[in-house]
Amino acid sequence: MDTIFHKIISREIPADILYEDEHLIAFRDTGPQAPVHLLFVPKQTIASLDVAKPEHAELIGRLALAAAEYARKEGFAEDGYRVVMNCNAHGGQTVYQLHLHLLAGAHLGRFGT
Ligand code: 5GP
Repeated sequence: MDTIFHKIISREIPADILYEDEHLIAFRDTGPQAPVHLLFVPKQTIASLDVAKPEHAELIGRLALAAAEYARKEGFAEDGYRVVMNCNAHGGQTVYQLHLHLLAGAHLGRFGT
């Protein structure tokens, strides 16, 4: 597996990295869909939620909790935010390394509207 996100993790290509630990990395999306748009990506290769296994449960949980922690730290948790995981073609997934979008900074409206 070698996606653009793997290249960001290995520093082969640059990104605006805002958080990193031994399990995951978070960086700004270059095509933001909201004033704040980050991607939380596991360092372990998992192509999509569709192929995630029970042993990945803790890691996937870490993505959500890292996004929530970032929102609290940056002071927009109370206003609110959205987390999204796109899966496969109909879900709109374009990069086949599992990732969680964090969208915030505006009232995003009801999902799908
Ligand atoms: P997906 O559509 O797979 O759920 O999300 C992939 C996201 O990656 C898109 O929102 C897209 O804007 C973002 N993206 C694509 N290429 C790059 C890149 O080279 N750097 C960064 N930071 N984001 C990217």
